[in-house]
Amino acid sequence: MADMSTPQRTWTPSSWMDLPAEQMPEYPDPDHLKQVLETLSTQPPLVFAGEARDLTADLARVCRGEAFLLQGGDCAETFDAAGADATRDKLKVLLQMAIVLTYGASMPVVKVGRIAGQYAKPRSKPTESVGGVEMASYKGDAVNGLAPTVENRRPDPSRLERMYHTSASTLNLLRAFTSGGFADLSRVHAWNQEFVAGSPQGQRYERMASDISRALDFLSAVGIDIGREATFNSVDFYTSHEALLLGYEQALTRQDSLSGDWFDCSAHMLWIGERTRQLDHAHVHFLSGVSNPIGCKVGPTMTPEELLELVDVLNPDNIPGRLTLISRMGKDKVGDALPPLLAATRDAGKNVVWVCDPCHGNTFTAESGYKTRHFDDVLAEIAGFFGAHQSEGTIPGGVHMELTGEDVTECLGGDQQIADLDLSQRYLTACDPRLNNAQSLEMAFQVAELLRD
Ligand code: PEP
Ligand code: MN
Repeated sequence: MADMSTPQRTWTPSSWMDLPAEQMPEYPDPDHLKQVLETLSTQPPLVFAGEARDLTADLARVCRGEAFLLQGGDCAETFDAAGADATRDKLKVLLQMAIVLTYGASMPVVKVGRIAGQYAKPRSKPTESVGGVEMASYKGDAVNGLAPTVENRRPDPSRLERMYHTSASTLNLLRAFTSGGFADLSRVHAWNQEFVAGSPQGQRYERMASDISRALDFLSAVGIDIGREATFNSVDFYTSHEALLLGYEQALTRQDSLSGDWFDCSAHMLWIGERTRQLDHAHVHFLSGVSNPIGCKVGPTMTPEELLELVDVLNPDNIPGRLTLISRMGKDKVGDALPPLLAATRDAGKNVVWVCDPCHGNTFTAESGYKTRHFDDVLAEIAGFFGAHQSEGTIPGGVHMELTGEDVTECLGGDQQIADLDLSQRYLTACDPRLNNAQSLEMAFQVAELLRD
């Protein structure tokens, strides 16, 4: 029988509002915010309930060990970088990585971008000092501006409208690219061959690339025209972002006419960040009531008891594919911190997808002053994640990475041997450092090697 002393709070799209919420901006003009959110609530949904349900079904396959999740994109998207070329290049590198991982895992890869909505950031400090002037920290283009002036850093509700429209145009591009031939398997593989041919340590990946070529040749030898078959020339590509700004998420939440269920139609998948995952707070409560597939970051302070409570709140019906736990421990902690948590969900019979975010536990400030990560640390955390699953007999469901399709210099290492002194060359991120296109693809080849071992 349910414990009557703690009655379940009734969920509505606005029932989060009287709960404590971390990391939400304080707007100087609440009436303006109210008016913007009212307008947004009358706008068309960005994604449809049926698409979110499809992603839950795809993630249920991941949960059963029949598919692998690749989730990736910017730490913080910006309105200025949402042009066609940058979006195309991000999709391109994710598709390239997906082919390599498909080969490595011998399984379909479920592709989810941190894209078309990743515009709001939690920050460790609410303010910062720039040139001796104290101002609010940048919290993503959805909230304030990156340029460091007091005025620009003031939260501005009209940015939420820009977030909606920029997300819509990015989604429009993604839908066109993924159905219009850009995702043709043989073409994506040809890009990978170019990469292998041009990369300093390309021969390391040559065998895998030629194995994939042989598989494609086999398909055409038996009469399958890869350029024309829908299975090979279009892909399911989903969107996701951290559900930080609950007013915005609420405004995009709609009741599905088929099932009566509520869906947050701002993205297919939403996740809860490490800083907003308090059990009885607003972010967890809000996402507990929408029927999208959801994620939750799980850092090294999580205990097995707290995790099981969280899993019960977020996935009370134990639906496979509904909940993805995104482990972000850091390379040195993953080996000790993750196994007890895997054992807890395993022993309690919880249907959850476990994926590895090897980025957020491995960030440090280099001597040059740039916030960075080292390619080898990222890879080491992924190896530790696989090792933990192996020892617990659980399923490593996938990876969640910060990356870009551009040739930036934000993370150290990789074949290009990016060093501290190189970081200043093209350090373009608005927030955390991203693997560049070559580092991302190399990472995919190395993860594929780990998967085949
Ligand atoms: C992020 O994914 O950009 C992020 C802020 O991660 P976390 O919540 O795990 O710190
Ligand atoms: Mn980040």
